Amino acid sequence: MTRIQFELDGKMVEAQPGESIWQVAKREGTDIPHLCYSPEPDYRADGNCRACMVEIEGERVLAASCKRMPNVGMKVKSASARAVSARKMVMELLVADQPARETSHDPDSKFWSWADKVDVTESRFPANERWASDTSHPAMSVNLDACIQCGLCVRACREVQVNDVIGMAYRNHDAKIVFDFDDPMGESTCVACGECVQACPTGALMPSAYLDANQTRTVYPDKTVDSLCPFCGVGCQVEYQIKDEKIVYAEGRDGPANHNRLCVKGRFGFDYIHHPHRITKPLVRLPNAKKDAGDQVDPANPFTHFREASWDEALDIAAQGLVKIRDTKGVKALAGFGSAKGSNEEAYLFQKLVRTGFGSNNVDHCTRLCHASSVAALMEGLNSGAVSAPFSAAADAEVIIVIGANPTVNHPVAATFIKNAVKKGAKLIVMDPRRQTLSRHATKHLQFKPGSDVAMLNAMLHTIVTEGLTDAQYIAGYTEGFDDLKEKIKEFPPEKMEPICGIPAETLREVARMYAKAKSSIIFWGMGISQHVHGTDNARCLIALALTTGQIGRPGTGLHPLRGQNNVQGASDAGLIPMFLPDYQPVGRVDLRQPFEHLWHQELDPVRGLTVVEIMDAIHAGTISGMYIEGENPAMSDPDLQHAREALAKLEHLVVQDLFVTETAFHADVILPASAFAEKAGSFTNTDRRVQIARQVVKPPGDARQDLWIIQEIARRMGLDWNYNGPADVFTEMTHVMPSLKNITWERLEREGAVTYPVSDPFVPGNEIIFTTGFPTESGRGKIVPAKVIAPDEIPDDEYPMVLSTGRVLEHWHTGSMTRRSEVLDNIEPEAVAFMSPKDMRRLNVWPGDFVRLETRRGAIEVRVRSDRDVPENMVFMPFCYAEAAANLLTNPALDPFGKIPEFKFCAVRAKPAELRSAAE
Ligand code: SF4
Repeated sequence: MTRIQFELDGKMVEAQPGESIWQVAKREGTDIPHLCYSPEPDYRADGNCRACMVEIEGERVLAASCKRMPNVGMKVKSASARAVSARKMVMELLVADQPARETSHDPDSKFWSWADKVDVTESRFPANERWASDTSHPAMSVNLDACIQCGLCVRACREVQVNDVIGMAYRNHDAKIVFDFDDPMGESTCVACGECVQACPTGALMPSAYLDANQTRTVYPDKTVDSLCPFCGVGCQVEYQIKDEKIVYAEGRDGPANHNRLCVKGRFGFDYIHHPHRITKPLVRLPNAKKDAGDQVDPANPFTHFREASWDEALDIAAQGLVKIRDTKGVKALAGFGSAKGSNEEAYLFQKLVRTGFGSNNVDHCTRLCHASSVAALMEGLNSGAVSAPFSAAADAEVIIVIGANPTVNHPVAATFIKNAVKKGAKLIVMDPRRQTLSRHATKHLQFKPGSDVAMLNAMLHTIVTEGLTDAQYIAGYTEGFDDLKEKIKEFPPEKMEPICGIPAETLREVARMYAKAKSSIIFWGMGISQHVHGTDNARCLIALALTTGQIGRPGTGLHPLRGQNNVQGASDAGLIPMFLPDYQPVGRVDLRQPFEHLWHQELDPVRGLTVVEIMDAIHAGTISGMYIEGENPAMSDPDLQHAREALAKLEHLVVQDLFVTETAFHADVILPASAFAEKAGSFTNTDRRVQIARQVVKPPGDARQDLWIIQEIARRMGLDWNYNGPADVFTEMTHVMPSLKNITWERLEREGAVTYPVSDPFVPGNEIIFTTGFPTESGRGKIVPAKVIAPDEIPDDEYPMVLSTGRVLEHWHTGSMTRRSEVLDNIEPEAVAFMSPKDMRRLNVWPGDFVRLETRRGAIEVRVRSDRDVPENMVFMPFCYAEAAANLLTNPALDPFGKIPEFKFCAVRAKPAELRSAAE
C-alpha cells in the first residue's frame, strides 16, 4: 500500500496506510490534545470532543486530526493561531461544566492534565446543572458532573468489550450517559469489566477504591508493578497500583492476550491477598483436634483446630511425617497434588519432589478435573495437548464454533475477541444445553440435550462425509484413520441422531455445511465437552471435524480447548501429571525417562501414578496414607465430596500449603503459609501457549513464604540436595528437559514479557499457529478416531428426575478460595445459588430467592434458587464455588476411561422446596 507524503507544520512527513493526522503527528513528536480519542488502548477515533482540531490549508473549517486522514500534498498546521485558539475554546467550554479542580473527583485525570498543558483551567462561561453521583456499584463510582460526553465509555462497553450496557440517552441539554434504561449502575446488567473506568478521561467513572465519601480522589499509588492476572487461562497482563504495600487497583496492560482488557475478576478481585484470614504463620494441628469429615471450617474463626509453629518445627513435622510413611509403607503410600494456580517453576519442582523424594508418579492436579479428556484425545490424535491456535485467531475465522463453553463467564476477555469477530462478520455457532450471553451474538445456538454431544457431532461428521464436504487433499496429505471413520459414521445419520440430541436433522446438516464450507473455521471448547464419561469421545469428534475438513493449521482455523485456571497449561506441561514426565513424555518409555534420571541423579518409577479421584479411592482402600497438597482444594473440587473429605480425614499425615484454611487445609496436620500470586515471581503459560512472566508486586504477609522455598525445604528434609536460588534457576533446568521451551530463556521472558511456544529461534516470535504442515506424531499425520454414542453414567429416573450440571459464575473462580475472599467479587455474588428454568420453578412451586433442596444419590444441599431462562427445563445448574452449599457433594465420580475425568456435567438429581427455609431467611 502506498504511503502518503504531506506537510505537517512546515515539514514533509509520511503517513502509513490508515494513519490519521493525529497519529502521524504523535509519531513525529507533536502532541495534539485529545480527549475522546484513545490511542492506548487503541479505540476507534470518534472526533466528537474537537480538542484535537488542526488547520488544513485551503479548507474553510478546522478538522479533527484524530479522524482526518492526510492526502498527498496536504498542508497541515497543528499550531496555527486559529487551531490553538479553537482548541482552547473547546477546553474552556468543557472546563465550565466540570466540578472545580480542588473538589473534582480526579484532579489528576487526563482531562485536567490536558487543561494544564493547553493552559486553560478556568472558564468564563456559566456552568450547566449536572447530575448527582451514583455509588450503587460496589467497585465503580459514576460522577456524571465530570462527564464530557466523549463517548469513550460507550465505545468501551459496546465496541471493545461488547457488553452493550452503556449508551447515550435523552436529547440536547438532557443528553447523558446511561446504564441500560437509565438504571443505577449497580442495578444494571453491567458485568463490571471496568473497561469504561479505564477509558474515562475525566473521572466521571472511577474505581470506588480511589474515592472518599465525597467522591474526591484521596488514594494515589506509591508505585506500579507489571504482572499478570491470577485467575483464568486467558492470561491478561495487568499493571498493579500499590499504596503502602497494598494493591489498590489493577489496570489492563497491552499484553498479547488481552490488549488492555480485563474482566471483573482481574480488575477488582485482587484484594483476597489482604484478607484478614490469610495464614501468616505455619500451623500445626492441635493434639485434641480430631479429623472428622463432617466437621467444617468455622468461617468466623478458621484457625480453631491449629496452633502456630516456627517454620523449622512445621517443616520438620511435615517432612518427617512423609518420610515415615515412605520408609515404613513404601513409596506408593504417598501422593501429591500440585497446583494450576502456581507458576511453571513451582509445578516442575513439585512433580520432581514427588518423583524423586516420594519415589512414585502419584502426582496430579486439577487438570484432571477440567481438560484431562481433551488432552487424552489431543495426545492420541495429534500428539500434542496444547491449542493449535490462540483465541485471537477468531478474528480471522469465518465460522466460530463454541461448544460446551461459556466464555463470557469463564474466559471473559477471550469472549470479547469472539464478540469482536462476530461484529466484523464472523458467524458464531454456540452449542450447549444452556443458553448463554454469547448466544445473543450467535447465528445459531444448538441447545442440545445434556450428554448427547457425540450424537450431535457425529451427525455433523456424517453430513460432511456423505455430502462430500471433506477436504480430500488434506485428508490424503495429513491424516490417518479416515476410512475407518467413513465406515463407522454411517451409523449416525442426522435423522437418527435428532431424537437423541434434540436438534432437528436439517439444523445439524446446515451447521455441518457452514463449518466445512467456510474458508476458515475454528472450534473453542470448554468443560461441557470434557467433564463427561465420554469426554474423550467428545474431543475426538471435534478433532475429526477439523481433520476431515482441513480446518486446522491455517489463520482462522484450529482447535482450542479453553483452559480454566491461569496456569493449567503450564502445570500440565511441567509434568504435574501421573502418566507423563515434563512435556508429556510417558513415564513408561525408558528412552524418554533416562534424560530425567540423568539430570535428577536418580532412577525413576516407570509405572504411571494415580490420578486425583484414584488417589481418594486409594486412601479409602488404605494404600495411600500421606499427602502433600500445594494450593489445591479437593475438599471442594472433587466429585462426591463426602467421599473425598472422608479420604482426607482418614489420611495418617496431610501437609497443605495454601493461603487460607481451605476446606482441604482444615483436614491437615501441618499448614504451610504460602505466597499469593502477587507476592512472588514466576512464569505462567496461558491457554494460547504463551509463557508469560509474573513479577512480585507486594511482600507476603507476616511469615508466609515463597512456594518455591517451601517445596525446596520439604525436599531437603526428605533427603534431596536442592539449591535453587529462585525461579530463574528452576526455569533454566526445565529448558534442559522440555523441548517445548527451546529458545525461551528466563532473560528473554524478562525482556519480552511473553513468548509463545514453540519458537524456532531465540530472536523470532513464537509460532501462534501450529500444525501448519502436519503433526508431531510418529507418522506426521493427525489420527482421526471415531466415537460411539455412549449415555451419561447416571440417567434421570423416577426417583431423581432432573439433570444437575455444575460450573462457574462470572465473579467466582474455581472453589472460591480466592474470589470469595475478595470484597468486591463476593459483594456482587455473595451467596450460594442454583439456577433453574422458570417452568421448573413453577412446577416446584418455588419463587426466586426461595431455598430448594437438591438431592442426589451421594448427598443433599439446600440452596437459594434463581430463575434462569437460559437453563433448559428439567436441569439444575450450580456453581461449585460455595462452601456453604458445595455442589460437589452431589456430583457423580464416574470417570471417563481415558482422561479419568469425572462427569461433573451430568448426574441425576431431584429438587424440592426446602421445608424450613424461605426467601426471607
Ligand atoms: Fe483475569 Fe481471565 Fe478476567 Fe483476564 S479474563 S482478567 S485472565 S480472569
